[in-house]
Amino acid sequence: MRRARKTDAPGGPVSPDALLVFHGDVRDFLAPGNRADGVVVYPVTRRASIKDVIESLGVPHTEVDAIEVTDGGGGSGPESDPGPETRRAVDFSYLLAPGDGPDGQARTRIDVRGVCAPMDLCAPAPLRPVPLPREAFVADANVGRLATYLRLIGWDTRYDPAARDADVARIAREQRRAVLTMDRALLHRSAITHARLVRAQDPFGQLVEVVRFFGLRAPGAPFSRCLRCNGVLAPVDKAEVLERLLPLTKKYFDEFHRCPDCGRIYWQGSHHGHMRAFLERLARATGDDWLRGPPAGPLP
Ligand SMILES: [Zn+2]
Repeated sequence: MRRARKTDAPGGPVSPDALLVFHGDVRDFLAPGNRADGVVVYPVTRRASIKDVIESLGVPHTEVDAIEVTDGGGGSGPESDPGPETRRAVDFSYLLAPGDGPDGQARTRIDVRGVCAPMDLCAPAPLRPVPLPREAFVADANVGRLATYLRLIGWDTRYDPAARDADVARIAREQRRAVLTMDRALLHRSAITHARLVRAQDPFGQLVEVVRFFGLRAPGAPFSRCLRCNGVLAPVDKAEVLERLLPLTKKYFDEFHRCPDCGRIYWQGSHHGHMRAFLERLARATGDDWLRGPPAGPLP
């Protein structure tokens, strides 16, 4: 166990500490010395919400599933856990304040539990009483390829490489979307309720991670969305797009789809085999059959 910082406020009385015990893989966000046991002794030197305290230790609030407080239950370490009957659940607004220890000496123990996969975006949870109406995402600029891959298997995913943090947070709040990002600081924003701080570095690994974390199930709706802009593709008569087709496409293909938002045309062209191989690879990685269901639709 390590102390997060000095506990004695200069010139003032000794403040009761809060003992924070992190459970699950959120421990990975803590300082190296705190990761093994997930225990942080936190000196309460000012009034602060538990959200701010947790995030000051490196854990985005979006990664937390439950917070439980035990007054006077700090003891000297995690082994002093007084048991579940003494804990009470609190939300992110719970305030820690100097001098709040029951007898001025005892510590408050706070158990912080990380979100476990699969996270159901459409079900209420203790810290997220208002679920999302559907599985929809907004991807930050640092996970653009992941956004394309999610569109490829049919999930509604907003992505604008020029969007700033404030834009991503606003879209998440207004359109009720889960945020996907590799930027921890973005997830400190209170407007963001549902999110995944993406761990994998490579885009395909990120897709596997997101599919597993949110429990996305095959077959989805592959090839139903525009890879460029997220629009929902609609069938279009060949005659309507004839002048935009290359000679061989004109000769060998008769079924076309068009993005109503950006106008891009899709058909089952030469990339078909690559796309099927992509879905087979995803199936192997996730143990789910991504080639099941309706026949593959249009392809770029
Ligand atoms: Zn489009």
